[in-house]
Amino acid sequence: MSDTPADRPVVTRFAPSPTGYLHIGGARTALFNWLYARGRGGKFLLRIEDTDRARSTPEATEAILKGLAWLGLDWDGEPVSQFQRKDRHAEVALQMLAAGTAYKCFSTPEEIAQWREANPRQSFQSPWRDATDLPDAPHAIRLRAPRDGETVIEDAVQGTVRVGNDQLDDMIILRSDGTPTYMLAVVVDDHDMGVTHVIRGDDHLTNTFRQVQIFDAMGWPRPVFAHIPLIHGEDGKKLSKRHGAVGLHEFAALGYPPAAMRNYLARLGWSHGDDELFDDAQAREWFDLSGINRAPARLDFKKLEHVSGHHIGTMADDDLLLVLDQFLADTDAAPLTPQQRNRITAALPALKEKARTLPQLLDQARFALIDRPVEPDEKASKSLDSVSRGMLSALTAAVQHVSWTRDELEQAAKQVAEENGVGLGKLAAPLRAALAGRTTTPSVFDMMTALGREESLARLQDQTDLAG
Ligand code: GLU
Repeated sequence: MSDTPADRPVVTRFAPSPTGYLHIGGARTALFNWLYARGRGGKFLLRIEDTDRARSTPEATEAILKGLAWLGLDWDGEPVSQFQRKDRHAEVALQMLAAGTAYKCFSTPEEIAQWREANPRQSFQSPWRDATDLPDAPHAIRLRAPRDGETVIEDAVQGTVRVGNDQLDDMIILRSDGTPTYMLAVVVDDHDMGVTHVIRGDDHLTNTFRQVQIFDAMGWPRPVFAHIPLIHGEDGKKLSKRHGAVGLHEFAALGYPPAAMRNYLARLGWSHGDDELFDDAQAREWFDLSGINRAPARLDFKKLEHVSGHHIGTMADDDLLLVLDQFLADTDAAPLTPQQRNRITAALPALKEKARTLPQLLDQARFALIDRPVEPDEKASKSLDSVSRGMLSALTAAVQHVSWTRDELEQAAKQVAEENGVGLGKLAAPLRAALAGRTTTPSVFDMMTALGREESLARLQDQTDLAG
């Protein structure tokens, strides 16, 4: 088998820095890497870039893992801690020193600052690069970067990108305190983890010039790079808190199901023809680097709602119930009681057609969640007077012997309305008030079938009892 990463079985990775929560941009990066690997029978690895000890916290790592799990992205093997690999990073720096692709630099920060002041237009050139007489003193290890020519990256999204080598200084790979730098750590880890494709935000493109210099210096084949444009807000500006939700957990709390988020995030910067709505199997089959756009994607909450409504509407009832359970748990709401679950399950086919988010679904399902006696709100109360209560009594009598199906209930209601010389709407309003206590609900017949005969009639009875 060839040693070109592009020809090896695919290995991708997601490499978050655990300094906060999982940002929507990070979630999309993870999703792209996951889709690319999973669509090709490859591996998707996780690396926690926790070398910044002051900013990295275990809570942040937990939050990221939780976010990935919520989104339904599974990774292979244990997450790799970058910090725990620091000895290996140092070992590579020493290997480079021995090979002459790196050198010891004894310049102090003050000396470097002075040099920069004297040479404002140039990147730092260490006087120790070619020195032969070396002191026994603290030193950093710097890459012996090429001085002439260009460093060129063939990026799968950005195309050919190049920078003159005179723009890049000999970066430090091992600090004078013996700790490896981020640039070195990333390259060593990507190499050791066998990463074939690095798919990440284009804010890392400038780092990539430096990273490929280390790959080249070590004689390691470079992975394929794909730098994806960042996500912008609806106004075209870089996404920030001003735009509303930016953390994946915030989207979860707004009640978009994970499957909908996967669909929506996949479309954020990637396209497959005009396909907007798809499932995981299609996404895995279709996802390719060539479909990633070069222009930044814009977050569009209207579109997200549309995608979310589609997934809620087409999801299997059992799956939707699980998603609902998770949503209630995530938002610290009480879990469904067995009775609530039964009623919601019965109402689900009607509920899921209209709801675009889980809170909308729960709002429509409120009639199934409340207990008797139902307290009609002010608006609903208006349709409950002695005349309409009389009709509810008549309906109660009329449905005593019908089988409790939507059709038969509707037939009975139509007949009662007719006998009272009113349209069905005039009966539906008090019926709705009695069953749900409010004016916007699913259809009264869907509510009656979901609640069942006994509970429905009891709710009607509660109101007719008040007729006096
Ligand atoms: N740790 C970096 C970040 O969170 C990602 C580095 C990489 O993907 O190479 O932005």
